[in-house]
Amino acid sequence: MKRVVIVGGGYAGTLLARALDDVAEVRLVEPRDRFVHNVAAIRAIVDPSLLDRLIIPYDRLLRRGSVIQGLAAEVGEGRVTLADGTTIEGDIVVTATGSGYARPFKPQSASVQKFAEDNRAAGDALRAANSVAIVGGGAVGVELAGEIVAAYPGKRVTLLASSPSLLPGYSAGLSAALTRQLMAQGVTLRLGTRVEGLGSADGPLTGALSAGGQAIEADLIIPALGARPVLPPLAGGSVGASGRLAVDRWLRPGGLRGVFALGDAAGTGDMMTIVAITRQEPWLVKTLKAVMAGRAVETLAPYTPWPVAAIIVPLGPKAGASLLPVTRNGLLVSPAITRAVKGRDLLIPRYRKEFGYGAT
Ligand SMILES: Cc1cc2nc3c(=O)[nH]c(=O)nc-3n(C[C@H](O)[C@H](O)[C@H](O)COP(=O)(O)OP(=O)(O)OC[C@H]3O[C@@H](n4cnc5c(N)ncnc54)[C@H](O)[C@@H]3O)c2cc1C
Repeated sequence: MKRVVIVGGGYAGTLLARALDDVAEVRLVEPRDRFVHNVAAIRAIVDPSLLDRLIIPYDRLLRRGSVIQGLAAEVGEGRVTLADGTTIEGDIVVTATGSGYARPFKPQSASVQKFAEDNRAAGDALRAANSVAIVGGGAVGVELAGEIVAAYPGKRVTLLASSPSLLPGYSAGLSAALTRQLMAQGVTLRLGTRVEGLGSADGPLTGALSAGGQAIEADLIIPALGARPVLPPLAGGSVGASGRLAVDRWLRPGGLRGVFALGDAAGTGDMMTIVAITRQEPWLVKTLKAVMAGRAVETLAPYTPWPVAAIIVPLGPKAGASLLPVTRNGLLVSPAITRAVKGRDLLIPRYRKEFGYGAT
């Protein structure tokens, strides 16, 4: 059996590790002791009881392979060296180092405990606030606005974004559907205006805020300014225009032959979403199986990104809108379908089962 070393135990790395567990000797390197299903981290701010369920141990993820708790310090052809000096050799190396996001949406370090504390602290601050300003009109900011008005109908929520419409990069129809619903739920939208006075974008804060010269009323400010790729420690890798790792048509960085990259950190041409990973991962599994059987990578079909930027955006448990990648231009679907696909349970039972744990 060939040895595959995967760097990063987020959505991409764990999906790939499970898919290869029966056909290769898999070693998954990850500094955190538990997986954080960050999809549910937004609602956890208004419902902290979700925290225990969205943090899932790695111990039942693989049947044959192993999860090694450690930080990769150097990745090269045929090997990964950890920060403690251990070297793990592999016939194939895959990097899936993902992206970072401000508190309290993703862990800021290897400490999952600290992530849970940050998320609880944000929930406490939100409960105490009468008015909230969310800065950022991407999917996280939009979802957060929807969760707050659904859980706390009395709070005043303002969503500010420098882009002229919500969800830049996604379809105008999806943006319009979400805009309509948020306005109907009483969220004040201030789009196309630059925010002044934001002290820090690292996490929730208090202070004065203004947009377009006008003061914004907010007891609590929550920045949601987007994900930042975390590049793997790769000798010879280069950064593409999007700040993600430059890769060739077979998702290999820097001309390396046996190293592949996927997920948020890799410049695949897709958006930085799990929806994108659901296309990258099956392609990579097929490609790696052929490579392990002796085929040259260049004789195999290259990766092609989704033709449309798809995403599922609940606004609380009942509302929301989504663009599903089922037709060339994507299919815009209703709140009811958004609820059924994600909004009701935020895929927590599915991920818990995939990690070998009970749905609850
Ligand atoms: C609040 C929130 C909600 C979201 N909801 C959705 C959603 O509903 N649908 C959707 O499609 N997308 C959603 N996204 C985007 C989604 O989370 C990302 O696309 C996804 O996390 C990318 O997965 P990944 O495996 O590439 O990276 P990550 O999930 O970021 O995982 C990367 C992993 O690599 C590890 N790592 C980093 N460096 C090293 C190293 N040197 N050595 C070893 N390990 C390392 C990290 O510890 C981490 O565990 C959401 C994002 C946020 C912030």
